[in-house]
Amino acid sequence: MRCAPGTGRRIAWLVLAGILGVNPGPGQTHSQGFEKQGGFIAPDGGLSLARRHQDMHAAPTNPAFHVLSYKLDLFLAMVNENFAGRNQITLVMKAPADSLVLYQLKLQIDSISVNGVQRGYTTDDANERFTVHLGSLHQSGDTLRMIVAYRRLPEIPRQTDRLGYYYFNTTIPDTIPGLPANLGYTMSEPGDARCWMPCYDEPWEKSTAEISVTVPEGYVAASNGRFLGTALNGDGTITWHWKEGHQIATYLMCATVSKFTNPVSNLTVAPGDTIPVEYFAWPRDSALTAAYIPTVKQMITNLGNLYGPYPWDKYGMSSVTPFAYGGMEHQTITTLHEFLQTNQDVVVHELSHQWWGDLVTCGSWPDIWLNESFATYSEALWRETLGGPVALRGFMKGMLGFENGSWTGAVYNPEGQGLYLFSDVVYSKGAWVLHTLRGAIGDSAFYRSLRMWRQLYSEKSAVTADFQAAVESVTGRDMSWFFGEWIYSPGWPVYSMAYDWGGGTLTLRIAQQQHEEYPTYAWPTYTMPLQVRVYTGTRDTTLTVRDSLLTQDFSFTLPARPDSVVFDPDGWVLHDAWKPIGPPPVPGIPLSFSLMQNYPNPFNTSSTIGYVVPGIMSQFAAAVGVKLTVYDLLGRTVVTLVNEREPPGEYYTRFDATARASGVYFYRLEIQSGGGGGASTAVKKMVFVK
Ligand SMILES: [Zn+2]
Repeated sequence: MRCAPGTGRRIAWLVLAGILGVNPGPGQTHSQGFEKQGGFIAPDGGLSLARRHQDMHAAPTNPAFHVLSYKLDLFLAMVNENFAGRNQITLVMKAPADSLVLYQLKLQIDSISVNGVQRGYTTDDANERFTVHLGSLHQSGDTLRMIVAYRRLPEIPRQTDRLGYYYFNTTIPDTIPGLPANLGYTMSEPGDARCWMPCYDEPWEKSTAEISVTVPEGYVAASNGRFLGTALNGDGTITWHWKEGHQIATYLMCATVSKFTNPVSNLTVAPGDTIPVEYFAWPRDSALTAAYIPTVKQMITNLGNLYGPYPWDKYGMSSVTPFAYGGMEHQTITTLHEFLQTNQDVVVHELSHQWWGDLVTCGSWPDIWLNESFATYSEALWRETLGGPVALRGFMKGMLGFENGSWTGAVYNPEGQGLYLFSDVVYSKGAWVLHTLRGAIGDSAFYRSLRMWRQLYSEKSAVTADFQAAVESVTGRDMSWFFGEWIYSPGWPVYSMAYDWGGGTLTLRIAQQQHEEYPTYAWPTYTMPLQVRVYTGTRDTTLTVRDSLLTQDFSFTLPARPDSVVFDPDGWVLHDAWKPIGPPPVPGIPLSFSLMQNYPNPFNTSSTIGYVVPGIMSQFAAAVGVKLTVYDLLGRTVVTLVNEREPPGEYYTRFDATARASGVYFYRLEIQSGGGGGASTAVKKMVFVK
């Protein structure tokens, strides 16, 4: 799923618009800013939605059966949101039982037969279930064919954010200006398939699906899998018939209906395997969508090169509005918001879900990052295809979201942390974690791991531990350190690096400052391979260090003083920077007292002040009293930035003036000399301009 574009406020409005049938207006298509938004926010607030989903998944029924197939017939009159359905569920017993529990939410069940015999049933809307009484004990291995006839009735009130089936009508022009035809579609992730078909909808349960949709003649119905044809029924209706013979989870099943045109083009995805690539779009969009199909084909080919050949019998997209999301990766037939129908980030995101989410499905909702982080990182990989490493780095940089509230959480199990299931932590932050993994194990192992992931769990569902095991089988290394830090733990590392050189030795100091910057969070101290690039004259050398402490020094032999040293030069590691640190001591180098000019100056939010505590640098040197104070023009103390004992060395601190008045400030450094006698002082001026 891709969330709707815009800020959180905008999203809430869009969602509401989707529910109420309000057209959100043009101007939604943009790329970079769109990546950083905070995710879909429900009208009732993300938290209550999160809690409800948590309740929903807290105690999943462990079924006594496995569903082999759904054969669903939907009857959509396309005049209101009501419909009728008939679902033939073929299942095999896994344990002896005389009743079966499946899901439904506010459907009117008219009859249930099992192996041709009418059976009694009870419905339980509060728990979104229904129980079928089989009349006798069925044994493990028995195959049952259950047929459920049901309807959605107008008199059954529903929660507006969990409709499952959404319907919009052109005869309400005030609310949907310009809707070209009546529109009906299903949208189920995570647990709303039960709103439009009785089923067992959990992401770990997969089966085949054959879906027929009967609508008034003139309407086109798009659904999963191969198109089997249409049949005119002689009563003014037409039946569209689709079959997904591959394994599919219920939340990926769909029906999308309107008066669509259907531009289509063929693509060879593997030797001897040609599939149709098609759009279902309104006539006003048909030229645009037809012209975009070659780009989609290029995306399919490219993702196929990275992840293995496209797995399904077709790839289709339908374009709709109103729609409360950017896109939804229904298996073989993505639903896209009309305003984003040619937005490359959204299109490639949903397409990549056909591998990550559809072919290999998250085994539980806490594992949702296995869908969304992978799809979001696929957006970055598409940019890399087009523009190389520079484009990749630029895109990843644009996706940083340290200010996004959900980012402080762990990538695994957002709901378990009180976050909305589809928070940005599983999109952008999770994509960054995959990028960091790629940097840590290298391109070859990274892509082999993805291929292994696919090979092991194709047409199945799997959880985070399974993905870790796939990476471990490829790298031959225990990866629990990486998954522990980056997937199961909240937060991110805050790194600062400084260096010095003397006597043919380069000394690096790397500090992790996340505990200082975010003292209230229980974030890990990271163990990470980190790259540092040393530039000397026309040469550069890349060094890799294994950093694992809050402050850690590393020494390398280097004959000449380097021109510069750059931390994480290729941008592989998700991290933030905070305050600068002083360089590590290089033994035997004498330092003299110094107060540096602040930088930048003038400044408009904060500025960094550097100073040198004099003495011979050595790890055994004694600390002396250091005080750094900021004064205003009248000589009043504004803030004391430093007041502690520090050994000889170069130090930096930051003056944050955001809450201060504009104007001139002074800063004064006072350092006690060793042995208690006298002090060195210096004063400099800085200018704060708001
Ligand atoms: Zn997605």
